[in-house]
Amino acid sequence: MDNHKSFVIDHVRIFTGDKFIESGFLRVNSGRITEVGHGPYREPGPDVRIISRPGDTLIPGLIDAHIHGLGGNVHSLEQSLRFGVTTVCDMHNDPSDNVKLRNLATDPSQKSMYADFKCAGLGAIIDSGWPIPVMKKEFEHIPNGHAICNNIISRWPKLKQPADAEPFVQQQKEKNNASYIKMFHEVGDSIGMDMPNPSPDLQRAVVQAAHKHGLIAVGHAFSYAGAMALIGSGADGLTHMFLDQPPSDEFLRAMLSQNMHCSPTLALCASQTGEDQDFFARFYDDPFAQEMLLNRTPGRPVGFAASETPRSSVNHAYESTKALYKAGVPVVVGTDAAGREIGTPYGLGVHMEMYLLSHKIGMAPADVLKAATTVTADRFGFDDIGRLEPGRKADMVLIRGDVEKTLQDPGTHCLPIATVWREGVLACSFA
Ligand SMILES: [Zn+2]
Repeated sequence: MDNHKSFVIDHVRIFTGDKFIESGFLRVNSGRITEVGHGPYREPGPDVRIISRPGDTLIPGLIDAHIHGLGGNVHSLEQSLRFGVTTVCDMHNDPSDNVKLRNLATDPSQKSMYADFKCAGLGAIIDSGWPIPVMKKEFEHIPNGHAICNNIISRWPKLKQPADAEPFVQQQKEKNNASYIKMFHEVGDSIGMDMPNPSPDLQRAVVQAAHKHGLIAVGHAFSYAGAMALIGSGADGLTHMFLDQPPSDEFLRAMLSQNMHCSPTLALCASQTGEDQDFFARFYDDPFAQEMLLNRTPGRPVGFAASETPRSSVNHAYESTKALYKAGVPVVVGTDAAGREIGTPYGLGVHMEMYLLSHKIGMAPADVLKAATTVTADRFGFDDIGRLEPGRKADMVLIRGDVEKTLQDPGTHCLPIATVWREGVLACSFA
């Protein structure tokens, strides 16, 4: 399948992001989708390449709504695309790393290599608050780590009072190219740590400033108390599910009434508590993963919450996500992959998360696919990706066979990807 400016994928099952077309066609012209329809394509011409794929399923490119491209790690873009993830959303990173990744992602000659990159810029940090304590912990292991870590942290703005929110949001949007704002409300009680927390007034001011600038604000919390504080601030979404207790009616009611979404990062939650680790191993052993991983070393568990088990458990996160799904709260796929052979892997982590949503949460296959495409695009306001419809970018993944059956099969780990296109450009790992 060489690169043609104009091509049609024909006789294929299509998941548009909203519904299935049992046998249809999709036309691409210069990187954009120009036509999607039922039945065979009726206007083949000499300039149009026809790719006929009866029995296979075409879906929108997958979106990972939560990564960290730490150190400007190119695997965050390269390995992601190899697993069908055409867009990654960084949720707090040093601006210099973001510039590097954005330049790679937007280089027109590199679309066959890298996923697209969106970011929050820097998260809304307070003095000594999350993620500073964990960064310090991790830098302990590197020679001269203390000085390097302090140097990085000293460059980041620390929010002190509500009046700091507006210049902070403005800086992220205008200087750091933020597409959304990231907040932190890590109380530390579910992960055996103690750290200062932003005041409710400050968190509310961050959300209000984000909204004033037309951005959503999403927040990190690993405990129930932190999640409830974020809900109280008016945030638009949670970037994790909490670990320390089952869901409460109050939590469910508030998520619904405030129209919030949740990106539970279930694979990462298990990595935090150290539970279900055999699950991760099975994904690394998948033949497709073996072929596509650029780094085949399985990520060791993050384990921050391991000392707090069994009180903190991924089972609480499963239970709460199940309850949210049943209640109709939008669920978004995110991995929190950050490289460095810790936690979830870039790209492959999206397949882990989709598997957990299918088999632990019981989400219908179409809803799992939506959680990795349409829902994310709608929640984050990405109106040119996430759906297969005319006018949107031709970010597409061709799955061998019936994707609904595959998602329901507990024996299949990675989705069997035949081909990936980013903006109509064939990903080089499938060329
Ligand atoms: Zn994160």
